[in-house]
Amino acid sequence: MKKSHGPAFRKELRPLMVCGICRGATVVSGVFHQLDCTACNASGWICAQTGEALPPAELVQQLSLKLRNALAELARASQPLGGAHELYEQNNRRGAGGSNFTGD
Ligand SMILES: [Zn+2]
Repeated sequence: MKKSHGPAFRKELRPLMVCGICRGATVVSGVFHQLDCTACNASGWICAQTGEALPPAELVQQLSLKLRNALAELARASQPLGGAHELYEQNNRRGAGGSNFTGD
């Protein structure tokens, strides 16, 4: 079967979900010691589409993309404190002006 659109191996972020076997811990408890979780290649993540572990090479790449996105999100989340504050003040000023302008 041939897909009609584009080359097959484009590197893009695949949806991952936390492994249900180890619950993201990457290891499962054996009788005496913890064992690498085989369901997720000891990564704690599985493909959300297939529910299976990604091959190690792709897993590394996907986790890297995921980490990069997560860090970017984190940066975005911590950054706007200044911006949001400014926006808040602007809105406040506008709101105060607006509420004075009642017209009666
Ligand atoms: Zn697992």
